[in-house]
Amino acid sequence: MAGRRIQIAGYIGVLALCFALGMLAGWNRLAGRVDNQAYDLLTDPPAGARAQEAVVVAIDEATLRARGERQNLRKILVEALDKLHDAQPKAVAVDVILAGSAADPADDARLEAALRSTPNVILGCLVASDGAWENPLPRFASLAASIGHVHYEADQSDGVSRQLALERVHAGERRWAMALEAFRVAHEAELVESPDDVEVAGIRIPAARQDATRPLYIRYLAPDSIPVISVLDIDSHRDQIRGKTVFVGVTALSLANDRLKIPSGETIAGVTVHAHAYETIRRAEFLTNASTTTIVEVCIAFALIIGIAFALLSGWQPYAIVFPLLALALYLPKLFLNSDVVFPIVAPAAVAWLCAAGVATYQYFVVRRTLVKAESEKARYQQAIHWAAHEMRTPLTAIQGSSELMSRYANKLPEEKRGQLSEMINSESKRLARIIQTFLDVERLAEGQMDLKREPFNIGDVVDVCMFRVTPLAERKQIQITLDSSIDGTVHGDRELLEYALYNLMTNAVKYSPSETHIHIRSERNGNELRVAVQDEGIGMDAKELKNIFKKFYRTKKAEASGEAGTGIGLSIVEQIVTHHGGRIDVTSTPGQGSCFTMVVPAQ
Ligand code: ADP
Repeated sequence: MAGRRIQIAGYIGVLALCFALGMLAGWNRLAGRVDNQAYDLLTDPPAGARAQEAVVVAIDEATLRARGERQNLRKILVEALDKLHDAQPKAVAVDVILAGSAADPADDARLEAALRSTPNVILGCLVASDGAWENPLPRFASLAASIGHVHYEADQSDGVSRQLALERVHAGERRWAMALEAFRVAHEAELVESPDDVEVAGIRIPAARQDATRPLYIRYLAPDSIPVISVLDIDSHRDQIRGKTVFVGVTALSLANDRLKIPSGETIAGVTVHAHAYETIRRAEFLTNASTTTIVEVCIAFALIIGIAFALLSGWQPYAIVFPLLALALYLPKLFLNSDVVFPIVAPAAVAWLCAAGVATYQYFVVRRTLVKAESEKARYQQAIHWAAHEMRTPLTAIQGSSELMSRYANKLPEEKRGQLSEMINSESKRLARIIQTFLDVERLAEGQMDLKREPFNIGDVVDVCMFRVTPLAERKQIQITLDSSIDGTVHGDRELLEYALYNLMTNAVKYSPSETHIHIRSERNGNELRVAVQDEGIGMDAKELKNIFKKFYRTKKAEASGEAGTGIGLSIVEQIVTHHGGRIDVTSTPGQGSCFTMVVPAQ
């Protein structure tokens, strides 16, 4: 019962450990990168979708070459704005930071004029490297319909732009993203915000505030689905521009330092990122991250299902449940994405795989151990029966012989002989009963079922009785047994079992000694210990043999060769009995010279 409880606790422990390891594996930078790559794979741009409002007007290589204005973008900007004036876009977002004055004041004046005549202009700002907001000069800012920040959040670990900070709070100043401001201005709408979302023109953007930003996944369209018109070509593309929201910015490789990798693997200019973000808002195709609670709940569910499957089912059955589950763990991000939720791939997969591997291994070893234990229990029981049968043979033969004699010569036997025979039958029957009792006791001891008797008795008496019982055996081999020292010490325990143990040590000494040798018995007190030593001059054992003699059924080669009958379980029983009394057996031995077995038990 206790074993089963420990087994269940171990199982739950392994499951919990694997769960924890899986969670750890799922929440680190490497896992984050894998999750990102899975996201990139799963969020391919929708086929056939085209931008309907966003247009990029590009200050591209051709523009730079034609205008030669590498240092001063303002002239080009003026040209673009003037041309756009005729094309009549709905709004113009300028992704060029107009924070400083131009070298030629005339340029700034011209730009001011151009801005004045362009309706719905959104100017860009950003947090500069010195940590302050870089805003457009007031003369420009005052002409703008709005100012929006031009930051896009490239993922720190791999430099891929997946999310946009819809809002940015810095140094006490808050700016909305240029794409959002452009959308708001183009739709002449108001922003309504809550900590969880932002609403604009009837579109609810689920971008919860997080660390002074509101991250929003940009749903990139295919790169060619947003029209990119060179500043030089505005006039010939007025139709494409009319009524649209134009993002003006640098795309020329030589000048643009804001080129970004997007999930599809392509590299695009920053201004185009804003256009994609604009379209994401317009299309209202928003993704949100799965909450930590959801992720943890899914992981817990995986661990539980796997744990229950392996606990209740056996053979191939748990695998029939677990393998589809492992596949599901890998497929989950796709399923979640169908409901516009970004779900990590590593954490649930790691939890599922680790839990499955952990509990499967645990079950395998537990089942194996239980089998091995059952096998050895069976073997032990068989050997115990063998031992009992062997021990019973001698008294049975004596009883059989005596009773046969008595019945055959019933009237012819003299009175004295009859008395002897019935005395023999009596004593051998008692011995038989003792053997059966010992067998049962030892069985119950082995199963931990037996409560030892706890009664005080004198160890000296036990020594005397054992010596008395073993003397006839010793005499047959002309072995002399002497009691060198004796003590009166009280032991608390099972007298019969301890007597059995000591008697065994003495019979072994007789069995494994040549005839005409000497056996010395010494009992002494050593502090709290009572020691009874049985020293013989017998065959002895080497160190390797000594290590094994308490194992069941072990007999040394010399013992086998000695011709003495034995089963090799006596000492294991002796050891069990003595340890159950809180004691031990010390043995020293030299091959060919003799052994000394000392029974050590605590004194009362
Ligand atoms: P058994 O005597 O039936 O073989 P035991 O468990 O009593 O079984 O003893 C195990 C083995 O330990 C013996 O077979 C013998 O090899 C060795 N042994 C025990 N007592 C002695 C001893 N006094 N001298 C030498 N060997 C011994």
